[in-house]
Amino acid sequence: PQPPGRRPSWFHVPAPDVNKQTASRFQKMKSDLRDLSLHTVCEEAACPNIGECWNGGTATIMLLGDTCTRGCRFCAVNTASKPPPANPAEPLNTAAAVAKWGVDYVVLTSVDRDDMPDGGADHFARTVEYLKMYCPNMLVECLVSDFRGDFAAVDRLANSGLDVYAHNVETVQRLQRYVRDPRASYEQSLSVLKRAKESGVYTKTSLMLGLGETNEEVRQAMLDIREAGVDVLTLGQYLRPTERHLSVVEYVTPERFRLWEEEGKEMGFRYVAAGPLVRSSYKAGEYFLNNMIR
Ligand code: SF4
Ligand code: SF4
Repeated sequence: PQPPGRRPSWFHVPAPDVNKQTASRFQKMKSDLRDLSLHTVCEEAACPNIGECWNGGTATIMLLGDTCTRGCRFCAVNTASKPPPANPAEPLNTAAAVAKWGVDYVVLTSVDRDDMPDGGADHFARTVEYLKMYCPNMLVECLVSDFRGDFAAVDRLANSGLDVYAHNVETVQRLQRYVRDPRASYEQSLSVLKRAKESGVYTKTSLMLGLGETNEEVRQAMLDIREAGVDVLTLGQYLRPTERHLSVVEYVTPERFRLWEEEGKEMGFRYVAAGPLVRSSYKAGEYFLNNMIR
């Protein structure tokens, strides 16, 4: 294992390669997002994969504002118990803007909105419905909260016409309380993934590694996730966003990630992406576009 502290060499990635054509798509996306007060995770998190993802026609849009009602110890978003209310026009406005960008695959995500009665599920579902109305061929993934285990909320979203229902388990069972907000739990996350699968959609989840988990704990989490019927698993390195967040315990080697990818495939996942820079939405569209849906 690499010692914590300086990031190992495999994090030194080249700057985004933005050619002329995609530069204009970038600009259009950026100005539309600004006009609508929408945010992308790609920009907010200064994600190093932005060139690859946006070039490849995948973008991640944040609905419901930028202020979360929870406070996970690995996450750098703003938090408040009462964020500003959701904009009821956002589903239609977002869909109309995204429809013009010519992307093939869009990921809709949000902060957790425990202040909303359904956690924002209907807001997401309406966005998907409008998007599918404008662009029936665009693939839509929603990366959402656990909706506090509310199955009615899960069902509303899972039946909205989306293609991929994603919710992140984040870490192994033992580290849940240490890493995630206490309102989240391993069991609750697995139960909503299992429920979403019952609607016949593809399901997807992510684990962050490097928080002090053992290989045996990772293996068990993967087995539990598979048991919940999850189709797609991503595994990436946890990186500390600021000094106030959890420290990295270990930099997992690319080789170790490759072994997890192999093991995941043997467990029966339809697709596993694992690597230091892999994120939940990393090139999200690529596999679905090439292998699963079309
Ligand atoms: Fe955006 Fe996710 Fe790709 Fe990063 S990995 S650029 S956050 S879609
Ligand atoms: Fe961050 Fe999500 Fe946790 Fe909110 S619920 S603090 S957005 S990881």
